[in-house]
Amino acid sequence: MPIDPRIQAALDRPLNGKRTLRFRMVRGYVAAPGTGPIGETCHTCRHAEPLGCDRREWICGPVGDHTLKIDRSTKACSRWERSKHAR
Ligand code: SF4
Repeated sequence: MPIDPRIQAALDRPLNGKRTLRFRMVRGYVAAPGTGPIGETCHTCRHAEPLGCDRREWICGPVGDHTLKIDRSTKACSRWERSKHAR
């Protein structure tokens, strides 16, 4: 898989301070949102798990903390894998 150009640009940039770290870790997400494939979201990731039968609240499976809910419209992280239910 080719490397995401945003990640390559971040790697090429000199590390001078806080502003150079473009992708920020967010609690509840296993890796920094936005570091995954372009155009993909947690909605199409196989790791997103519903909390209840109504499928309104979701968590990131690898995090394993049921108190940290995720927004499935968030950009995919580097651990994203296509869900077999996604088209
Ligand atoms: S893309 Fe998948 S692995 Fe990454 S935070 Fe979202 S649900 Fe978790």
